[in-house]
Amino acid sequence: MSKVLIIGAGGVGRVVVHKCAQRTDVFSSITLASRTKAKCDAIAAEIKGVKVATARVDADNVPELVALIRQEQPKLVINVALPYQDLTIMDACLETGVDYLDTANYEPIDTARFEYSWQWAYQDRFKAKGIMALLGSGFDPGVTNVYTALAAKKYLDEVQEIDIIDANAGSHGQPFATNFNPEINIREVTATCRHWENGQFVESPPLSTKRSFDFPEGIGPMNIYRLYHEEMESIVKHIPTIKKAQFWMTFSDNYLKHLEVLQNVGMTRIDEVEFQGQKIVPIQFLKALLPDPGSLGPLTKGKTCIGVIARGLKDGKRKQVYIYNICDHEACYAETNSQAISYTTGVPAVVGGIMMLTKKWHAPGVWNMEQFDPEPFLDVLGPMGLPSIVVDGGHWPEL
Ligand code: NDP
Repeated sequence: MSKVLIIGAGGVGRVVVHKCAQRTDVFSSITLASRTKAKCDAIAAEIKGVKVATARVDADNVPELVALIRQEQPKLVINVALPYQDLTIMDACLETGVDYLDTANYEPIDTARFEYSWQWAYQDRFKAKGIMALLGSGFDPGVTNVYTALAAKKYLDEVQEIDIIDANAGSHGQPFATNFNPEINIREVTATCRHWENGQFVESPPLSTKRSFDFPEGIGPMNIYRLYHEEMESIVKHIPTIKKAQFWMTFSDNYLKHLEVLQNVGMTRIDEVEFQGQKIVPIQFLKALLPDPGSLGPLTKGKTCIGVIARGLKDGKRKQVYIYNICDHEACYAETNSQAISYTTGVPAVVGGIMMLTKKWHAPGVWNMEQFDPEPFLDVLGPMGLPSIVVDGGHWPEL
């Protein structure tokens, strides 16, 4: 029985609160805090039968966070604010001696640079304090790391290549909208692509490598584009037999057309520009104009399919295994008032929290998901709403 403090009342925060409230056997008490308290109150009001306390906090401000943690005395802080707040929340957890979990690695606000170095630098301090940080407990990163660990534990003797493939085969009917925070989404998509090959990351221009992939369960063929994604950094470090790692995501032609124009006119810039005597950051202004991802919930229909194809050796022979989840936008909305992108992130965050609080995964220090036994996590993930399908053997084309 443990109290949890959830920071961030966006799309993912909403799912985390709904799901924690379904597991009061683990989360005995829930507090939701964010920059705008009204958003926390609105989410708390959706939860029937379980009281959710709410608070206002500026998560960029360590003393404010420390005061809130001291007041609430949680056993765990789940950070589902933005990646910019990871380090301040980790600092506050260190000062108060409380475990920490997030779903995205730290990014400095002025450079779209995705790497774990800043958070891995907390390793010794978290160990010395006897507290744990679980990094990247969403779907990708998160479940994709766990799927890779499962392939290494159960299906292959040596994992040599992975392709992480993320399809959103859903549609919201809007001319242009992103399914999670537009600023974070556009920074990720427009960043220089990197994939892992023979011991190093190899760069290529953003969205310059395109393939078609035939998705299972009626989704069918869709275009996928290679991107850099943060889980590759930790997976290739912790599973060093991997020689090649690539991350792929589907984008509709319509999304790419809008993105290209927005980039060409400078609307995706992350640096400050002078406008009528004021400094504005174009991508932040764009975020204010685009539909709030939270508002897409009731509009989005269709499915997501996120998974990992792992290739390597089993009993001396080449073999492939494909492990994936299919999630339905409308079913997610019916359950949590959020579409599948927030759902597939929020549920693994809660399952990561369950792993930590029940001590199935617990050790002082800073950890990535693939460093723990994948099976206890997946045993809880399915019943919590995200079942995994394993196709052991098969011939998916090299991407
Ligand atoms: P939203 O933008 O919908 O929500 C972010 C929330 O954080 C908002 O409530 C916002 O408050 C709050 N917030 C922002 N800055 C602060 C601050 N300084 N202090 C307190 N609260 C703050 O984002 P999402 O819910 O879509 O995403 C949440 C996280 O999940 C992000 O880090 C994202 O990168 C990650 N993610 C991870 C995925 C994965 O699979 N691993 C996939 C998708 C997302 P306000 O409303 O006042 O602005």
